[in-house]
Amino acid sequence: MMNKKSFLSLCLLMGAAPALPVVAQTSPAETTRSAPSPAKAKNIILFLADAGGVPVIHAASLLGYGEPQKLRIQQWPHLGLSETSPVDEFVSDSANGMSSIVTGIKTRNGVISQGPNAARGRQDGRPTKTLLEYAEERGLLTGVITTQSIADATPAATYAHSNDRKTWGTIFPQAFTPRFGDGVDVLFGAGRAEVGEQLVAAGTSFDKISQSHKRPIYSTLDQVPANNARPVVVGDRMDVHAATLKALDILERSPKGYFLVVEWDAHTDDSREGLQNVVDFDKLIAEVERRVDLKDTLLVFTADHSFGLQVDGGRRGEPLLEGYDAWKAAPKEGAIVRLKNVLVNDSHTGEEVPALAIGPGAERVRGYFPNTYLFDVMMQAWGWVADTGTSK
Ligand SMILES: [Zn+2]
Repeated sequence: MMNKKSFLSLCLLMGAAPALPVVAQTSPAETTRSAPSPAKAKNIILFLADAGGVPVIHAASLLGYGEPQKLRIQQWPHLGLSETSPVDEFVSDSANGMSSIVTGIKTRNGVISQGPNAARGRQDGRPTKTLLEYAEERGLLTGVITTQSIADATPAATYAHSNDRKTWGTIFPQAFTPRFGDGVDVLFGAGRAEVGEQLVAAGTSFDKISQSHKRPIYSTLDQVPANNARPVVVGDRMDVHAATLKALDILERSPKGYFLVVEWDAHTDDSREGLQNVVDFDKLIAEVERRVDLKDTLLVFTADHSFGLQVDGGRRGEPLLEGYDAWKAAPKEGAIVRLKNVLVNDSHTGEEVPALAIGPGAERVRGYFPNTYLFDVMMQAWGWVADTGTSK
């Protein structure tokens, strides 16, 4: 058992020139010999690009940098292809897609973190325990951030259970009545008007929830007082960059670690907006990667489902989205958008999405796997075992 450092010391002691390889930092044999039990993660951040499939990630690099593979996430060392289908169809929506990732159990489209025995809009299924609930149960701090409505399917799948993703009036209040721990600690999203309307229709309101749980629901990040350790913001829009940095200021104080989910919409029905979202998300991820300690923090990037966008033309040095402005100005008809170099079929698609990871436990992300495997990756990174009867 000799690591590189002690080998160097020994060489110096013996007056010998160390004959270490110049390029390879660590030989495979050395890795095997010196590898202790796999490192555990204290913190996990799950970055979710909604509809950010392989073709969208590729096109975002072309739009942002004029070349393929220039995004930060495309430099991460561990990559797998995650299969997203629900139990009964080939193509996933956000509800099944995210529920599968955070509970390890595939379900049906439209269903929020309930088992496949749910019938959308008609019958509840068994609630399936989410990574956020496991983290809350074990005393970690938790956060959920999204560019979308705070009650939309992707964020909802982390903190709520419902047989119908559209029931925002009963989904959002579940953030305040958790099954484990004290519920989501930091909750930042959009959809103020729409969620507010549905709350009223369900017989409650932002004010009523705030008062009964003694927890203000602000409408902008700026309104949150510096001493609020469990802030909730539901705005008209959400600046996810500012929100993520603010959340980390709070979550990083947790002695037991944290679980943070950050969703950024990457639907490319509007190709420029969608691809620019991915470029901006990637810049945020790079910033977070520089900030955290990758020895104890696992970063995972994936998508809930893919999307029908393809780059099928174009040349280096010329704009990727030639014809976009004319398309934007024209009346919209049909689901197919034919730009010069890009074809958009405005639909979710069934092929696998990228899963990328860096940090402790990231090495398990490789090959083709069902999206439910990402639940296992994150649980194993923490060193946790799923409750009996809830695993697959
Ligand atoms: Zn989605």
